Amino acid sequence: REAAGTVLAALDAVAGIVEAHVEELGRIDAVAGDGDHGIGMRRGSTAARSAAAEARERGAGAGTVLHRAADAWADRAGGTSGALWGTILRSLGTALGDRDAPAAPRVAEGVTEASAAVRRLGGAEVGDKTMVDVLVPFADALTAATAEGVPLTEAWDRAADAATDAAAATARLLPRKGRARPHAEKSLGTPDAGAHSLALITRAVHGALL
Ligand code: ADP
Ligand code: MG
Ligand code: MG
Repeated sequence: REAAGTVLAALDAVAGIVEAHVEELGRIDAVAGDGDHGIGMRRGSTAARSAAAEARERGAGAGTVLHRAADAWADRAGGTSGALWGTILRSLGTALGDRDAPAAPRVAEGVTEASAAVRRLGGAEVGDKTMVDVLVPFADALTAATAEGVPLTEAWDRAADAATDAAAATARLLPRKGRARPHAEKSLGTPDAGAHSLALITRAVHGALL
């Protein structure tokens, strides 16, 4: 399969896993935030999937498909996470480009660039109880595995495990960024909504890479 086809399958998996968890994500966000994370992620991921499919039909390569998906997600999702997910997809698109299927270390570089871009835009660092707490260990695990020569699907599998552990670990943290901050103590014992959705998404995308 061409890289653009894999990207489309991955975005389809993202929209699917978000749809299956819309209510759960809303519930988690409502503990200390405003409860809209599920519906925002649904709006963003379905818009991204449609825009990607349209671009693919016109013959676009993987990078362009991701750029169209990024714009659609950011435009339609609303909320902080919408802008940040737009940034993630845009960074990946720029890193992967439209040419041949990228080698595994190139994909890891793209994820690392996406992680840096999210930190630049949102100003959060590891420990602030945001999606950054998952993005950083996910990028690091993917980089480590691909540097060892582990094939992408296996490397992604390991990194998705690291992401799942990191998302669960955010339950112990107090939020220092975003809407959850004013009600920080209420969120103790509950993971961060955006960290949890990102971990679910890394797991779902692994299925699309197989
Ligand atoms: P909003 O907070 O605008 O309602 P969402 O509910 O969709 O948007 O997303 C909330 C999630 O966004 C949080 O759980 C957190 O993971 C993430 N988030 C919020 N602010 C930041 C930030 N400054 N940097 C990184 N991630 C953030
Ligand atoms: Mg919210
Ligand atoms: Mg909101």
